[in-house]
This record gives sequence, C-alpha cells and structure tokens, in this order.
Amino acid sequence: MNAAVITDVERIDIQSLERPTLRPNYALIRVAAATLCGTDLHQYGGKIKTPLPRIPGHDFSGVVEELAPGHHKFHEGDRVVVKPSFPCGKCEYCARADYGSCEDKKLIGLHGDGCMAEYVLAPIANLVPLPDAVSFEAAANLEMFTVAMNTMKRVQPRLGEWVAVLGQGPIGLGQTRMASLSGARVIAVDVRREALEMAREFGADVTLNSTECDVVAEVKRLTGSGADIVVECVGAKATVDLIFQLARKEGRVANVGFQVGAATYDLIPIMLRSLTIHGVGGNGGRGQYETVIALTESGKIRPERLITHRMPLTDAAKAFSIAHKKSEPVLKVALSLNAGPNRPTLARG
Ligand SMILES: [Zn+2]
Ligand SMILES: [Zn+2]
Repeated sequence: MNAAVITDVERIDIQSLERPTLRPNYALIRVAAATLCGTDLHQYGGKIKTPLPRIPGHDFSGVVEELAPGHHKFHEGDRVVVKPSFPCGKCEYCARADYGSCEDKKLIGLHGDGCMAEYVLAPIANLVPLPDAVSFEAAANLEMFTVAMNTMKRVQPRLGEWVAVLGQGPIGLGQTRMASLSGARVIAVDVRREALEMAREFGADVTLNSTECDVVAEVKRLTGSGADIVVECVGAKATVDLIFQLARKEGRVANVGFQVGAATYDLIPIMLRSLTIHGVGGNGGRGQYETVIALTESGKIRPERLITHRMPLTDAAKAFSIAHKKSEPVLKVALSLNAGPNRPTLARG
C-alpha cells in the first residue's frame, strides 16, 4: 500500500509498505479521506516527538475492509468514521465510561501508525457507522465539532447570551457553530478576513477583525457589561489578556487554545470579577462523534466547508508544507485516498 511517512523533522516520504495485519478486536480500514490537524503538524515539525519513521494522522473516514472475528455490529464494506483516541479501558475514568478523560489515552498516528495510508488498523470499539448522506470528506473533519461539544457542555450557553470566540481557525469555527446552534449570540474575533467570512457562514452574529477595530470597546458596546462567555482558541498572550477585558462579572471562560510562549493567567481578575474558568482538553467524550455525525446528516453542521485544500495522498509532502507554513490562506487540508474523495455510498458485497 502507499503511505505518507514522516521520516525526519519536516520531511514526508511516500513509501510502498505492507498492509497492516489484522489483530483481535481490530478492523482493517480502507481509508477514503483524511484531514491534517494541529497535532499532525506539531509531530511533523518536531514539537511532538514520536518514533520515526511513522505514518501520521488520526482524522479520517473509510470503508471496513476486514474485521477480526466475533463482531456482528459491523460488516466488510461498511462506511465508517473512526474515533481517533483509544482509551485504556482500565483506569478509573474508563470504568465510569468517561473515556475522554482516560489517564492513558492513545492517539492513532502518535502512539502507532496513523491514517495517512491506504489502509490502517483501528479498534472495532472506535468505529462509528456513517450514514449515506454524510460524505467521507465531511466525516474526516469532525474533530473540531467534538471539541466544541466538550466546551459547550462546560460553559452551558443559554438562549440569547453573548459568546465571544477568540480565534477563527478550524477549532474556533467549530466553537462558533456550536455556540450559534445553542441559541447564543456569537461574536467571532480574528485577524484574517477569510476566517471571519467563514465565521459568519457558521452563524456568528458579529465578526470583529482585531487589526481594524478596538475589540474591547466593540464588545462593551454590543453587550453592555461584557460577554457572558469567552472561548479562547488561540493560546497567544494577546488573546489570553483579552479574556479579562471581554468577560462580564460572573462570566464563564473556556480555555481551548494550546498556550505558546508567555501566555499566563493573572489570578486577581479571576477573583475580582468572579469568573469561572473551564479547561477543555480535547475531544472524544461519550457519544460526541455520534452526535456530530447526526448534526452533519441533518445539515446543521457542514464540516466539509472548512476544507480549503484537497490533494491526493501522493501529494502529502506538499499538503503538510502548506498547512505548516501557512504560505497561503488555509483552514483545513484534506487528502483523498483510494475509495474516492466523496463517493456517497459503497455497495455491500
Ligand atoms: Zn486532530
Ligand atoms: Zn482509561
């Protein structure tokens, strides 16, 4: 099979490798579509260290090619999406079915070979059936909406409340969409015109370009005393500092951005303004992929709209380079594989 392999920092080679061999409780998936996410880029850039060579990638969809015996829920030929993290099944959180918080969670592509290959192994427990109406490409791009579900579960937006979402990359756009679906009024903040246009399509009531206006003054003007909820999706010092100027007293804050550099929290404003701070450490809570697929099927979310670049697997090196360097406006890059990028159904044999 063809596979995109990270062989060194910022280096991807296309290699011809043996197909992985089936293990008990696993399925061999013929990958149809895969998308690049921040984790893959950190791995590619050497910020996340994994043994090399390694096939990266964990956000994907495809068709069941082979199944370990003893599982009757799935069949060969089924269209599926794969939940990317594998809980240990042994810790206290797993015992409570709180798989998202598992103490020893493994991510496909980091702890073993990933999905940027024609075939990949995945635990059968991680497969979710894909309805015919959901394309492979949309299904390979669900993660940001599951992260947003984790956020909304914590900050609990109520009808008509103001939610300010700082950063409109894919993760921020997922938050904008989910906050809008929950009935809140959304203020989307970014520095990129194209990202703010997408935010409007995703339901933002107001978009603010922080290079063109005074975000604090605008939010005060719109909301009166400040946003009820602030969702920080950047992790930079400038946006972390903004939280305390935008949130109203008694407001709720979600930290989603992966903080880089000197972004630290000052505890005094949290105390003085009686803020509640929520950390959101990823995706994969119980039932979240299933819910996000149902929302995609009903047209309430459109994950494929985030994809700005589409390429075949053989162009993976170029795909990673564009996504990493952001040399052109890019939200999500999708790789299409052997089942065709958007084939709506695949007949069962
Ligand atoms: Zn991801
Ligand atoms: Zn566990």
